[in-house]
Amino acid sequence: MHTEPLLIAGLIEVCRATIAANSEHLCALDRAIGDGDHGTNMQRGCEAVSAEEANLSSLPLPDAVEKIGLTLVMNIGGAAGPLYGTLLMEMGRELRAEESGGAFPIILKRAIDAVARRGRATAGDKTLLDVLYPVQDALAHRSRLSDIARRAELSANDTAPMKAMRGRAAYLGDRSIGHVDPGASSCALLTMAICRYLEE
Ligand code: ADP
Ligand code: MG
Ligand code: MG
Repeated sequence: MHTEPLLIAGLIEVCRATIAANSEHLCALDRAIGDGDHGTNMQRGCEAVSAEEANLSSLPLPDAVEKIGLTLVMNIGGAAGPLYGTLLMEMGRELRAEESGGAFPIILKRAIDAVARRGRATAGDKTLLDVLYPVQDALAHRSRLSDIARRAELSANDTAPMKAMRGRAAYLGDRSIGHVDPGASSCALLTMAICRYLEE
């Protein structure tokens, strides 16, 4: 199975552009309940993936996705690196196994569960999982792309009243309440950008 090189290249570019455009916003969210680097961390990861775009586009899809995950682990730094990295690496592995019959919502579910295990986190802990699980749910229910994007956006906002249980924000305890989680926000922004791109 070979990639649609244009699809991979296009997705890499929309993700890079979205993170670049929102980097300052993500840092501001992270300044409120973390150390203020989430935007620059994500930007570094996306730039590294973009730099490898030509090579990635030449790979079969599962290999490309797994390699993107590895690049994210090595370049994002901070807590988000291993988490986004695990998501993509696991998705790549599951896509490879998918040749024996899995559907994408199931592949995504397994990849998200791997992120949860990696971070010892669960839904409701005020992390990117609070966007990933609702997006997976919407996908499993065959929602329209525009509805999946909306669900991602609302889910990120829904992290504001939550108390952080994992990551740096957890050190703040109750003082983390009232702020949107930066990782949930980057995840929603990426989901919205991907949905918009796939709709075109
Ligand atoms: P760091 O906190 O190391 O500076 P980032 O600022 O790049 O890393 O990423 C912070 C985000 O990572 C948080 O907003 C949260 O969504 C996510 N996160 C942190 N720790 C965990 C964890 N244990 N499980 C799941 N997500 C986490
Ligand atoms: Mg940070
Ligand atoms: Mg940091």
